[in-house]
Formats: sequence, structure tokens, C-alpha cells
Amino acid sequence: MLGTPTQIVPSSGMSLYIHVPFCNTKCPYCDFNTYQGIERLFTPYVKALTTEIALWGKVLDSPSINTIFFGGGTPSYLPQGSIGEIIESVRSNFSINHEAEITIEANPGDITLDSCTRLLKEGVNRLSIGVQSLDNDLLTMLGRRHDSAQAIESCKAASTAGFKNISLDLMYGLPNQNIEHWKRTLENLVALDPKHISLYSLTLEEGTPLHTWVEQGKLPTPDPDVAADMYHYAEESLEYHGYAHYEISNWSKPDHASRHNMAYWLNHPYVGVGPGAHSRLGSYRFWTVDSPRTYIEGAATWSKSNPSCFEKFADQEIDSIPTIAGYEHISPDMRASESMFLGLRLLDGINIAEMSHTIGTDLEVLYKTEIAESLSLGLLEEHNGLLRLTKDTYLIANQVFTKFID
Ligand code: SF4
Repeated sequence: MLGTPTQIVPSSGMSLYIHVPFCNTKCPYCDFNTYQGIERLFTPYVKALTTEIALWGKVLDSPSINTIFFGGGTPSYLPQGSIGEIIESVRSNFSINHEAEITIEANPGDITLDSCTRLLKEGVNRLSIGVQSLDNDLLTMLGRRHDSAQAIESCKAASTAGFKNISLDLMYGLPNQNIEHWKRTLENLVALDPKHISLYSLTLEEGTPLHTWVEQGKLPTPDPDVAADMYHYAEESLEYHGYAHYEISNWSKPDHASRHNMAYWLNHPYVGVGPGAHSRLGSYRFWTVDSPRTYIEGAATWSKSNPSCFEKFADQEIDSIPTIAGYEHISPDMRASESMFLGLRLLDGINIAEMSHTIGTDLEVLYKTEIAESLSLGLLEEHNGLLRLTKDTYLIANQVFTKFID
């Protein structure tokens, strides 16, 4: 059994992820579950989403929601009023904590003073803007539909409208990007005074046009040493400007760490709705179908069937939910492994004793060899009773994480 609502969602609440599978144009480096040219599905998608939200609210007995994250895709590309309608449906079917963090990912090209004012009225209180770069040549190569001036204007518009919590995403390690571009971009970005900054190294995903262009020699292969220099420069520069480096790829001003992502890293429960969204509830992880059309049909079928009273919500029944594509049981060992490699992403580290108590597995015993080896190799260190990555390990953290993956 998955469990009863109170067993799987603690009284402290849960998080909700909402996947928006629409983009105005598909960027050539992106392999996310998102599509261009399916705008005719806007209305049925919002209907399916509000249906799915209502059904999960019923199944889980309207638990408390601490964070909502609209990711994508491009949530800011949805028609006016859609975000408000979706938040209202969450409000009607869950209990949104009055201090909940409600984030929407936004493309600079969609942001105006009016759109920000509307989003604030609709309940959004955190904007995550996909700036990616402030160099126009790089933005063109990335296929972004904004330029640097629009990126800067969008941040200013969001602040003027009243957003107090703005996060900016940047990419580094790009073909043709050099350290001078990077320094200029960071300087201009910090001057906008965002509360949060996420830095992502480009991954050349197979099957994407950017991967092909690099393979064909149309673009140079990014130099990993230059990417490392960019990361180290950002570490110093952002610290100088008062940002705390709290997770491998994330920096924030005090009290502005992403609460939604913290819930992932701390392995807290969350439900993901929308095509291709993942959920982690009780001892199960499950995911919805990728195809927006199949998802829309699935939500309609689920709403017509009995959404099931929770006592019957056994594991065999998870994948009988028409929106769900698959599931897996999280064994105690898997949970221990996840707690280690997710928790170690947080640079303060893990309190092993507390974590062991929370998950009911003695991590010090289970990972005695791995922890000792990592300490002796200088990959991990103990600090104030916490086990954490050493500073030199941030860029090779995956080598540490694999030790804790069976
Ligand atoms: S806007 Fe974001 S989600 Fe959409 S295609 Fe570009 S990178 Fe992917």
C-alpha cells in the first residue's frame, strides 16, 4: 500500500510541481519534455491540469502545500489568466500554506510590467527568469527569443511590479563563450540585484541540434577547463557580492534559497502534475505520461472513473491511474542512497545522525566504507557535525555521489 494520506504527507506538508509543456520555440540545446507549435492544446491542457489537481487533492485529502513550482517548458507563455486559474484550482483542492513559495519560470520575452502585476495578483511570489546569457551572439546561438536588453528590462519590470524574490538562470561552458563574456555577464547580472542565481553548465544532449552542430564541427567543443574557470570565478564574485553558495549550482541572498528545490534535495514528498511530471510520495516514485495529448485524454478518463478512495490506493493501482506512465517502489536502501546523494548537493552538508533517524536507516553503518574512503581522499569532510563536500569537489561531485548509488 502507498499508505493513508496522513502516512504519506506529513503534517508539515508537501510540494507541488506543475509541468507546462509549451514553448514558443524549441531551443537547440533543450531535451526537456516541451514542444513548440501545440498552442491549440492550451485550453484542454489547463482543463486537464485542473482536473488532475482536483483528483490529487481528493486522493490525498487536501494536504498542506508549502511550495508550488511552475516549470517547463515556458509557463510564462501560457495565455493570460491560466496561471491564476491553476493556482485557484490548487487553492480549492489543497490547503496552500499562507507563506507558501509560488514560483513561475519565465522567459524574458514574456515579461512586462503588466504581466508581472497580474502574476503577483494571481498569487505568484517568486519569478525565475531564464536569462541564460547577456551576450547577444551567445543568445542567438542558444536559439533564445530574447536579447540581453530584453533580459535586463524584464528583471527591472519584475522589480518595479513588486516581485521581491527574483531568481536568474545563467548558462556557462558554452561553445564560443570565453571568460571575458562570462565576467561581463555576471557583473551586469549582479547589478540587477536578484535574490537568487542558478548557474548551469551546458550539457550537450544527444539528439539535440546543438549536439549535432558540435559533432559536425560547426561549433567548437566547449572546453571543460574554461567552464571550470567560469565556475570558480562565479564562486568568488558572487560571494563578494553577498550571495551564499548553498547548493552546487545555486547561490542566494540570505533567506532566499529556493524552498521548492530544497524540498527535493531533502527528499521531502511532492506531487508533480502535467505531462512528464514526477512525484515522490510515501515509498513510491511515479511519473505522468510525456505526451501532452495522451495526458489530456488520461485526465478526462480519470475524472470519469472513481478517483479511488485512498484505502484502495495500493501500489498495483498507481499505474492504473490514466495519467500515470510508470512507478517504482523506493526500497529502504534506495531511500538511504537518495538521502545521501541529494543531501550532499547542499553545501552545508548532511547531519548523518538526524537523517538516519528520519529515514530509519543507520547511514553511518550502511555507508561506513564509502564515507571513510571519501574522507581519506579529501572528497568529503566533517564540519560542525555535518558531512559535506570539500570545496574542490563541487565540480566533480558526481564522482562522490556514485559511491552512494548501488
Ligand atoms: S525555453 Fe527552456 S524549456 Fe523551452 S525549449 Fe528553451 S530551454 Fe527548453
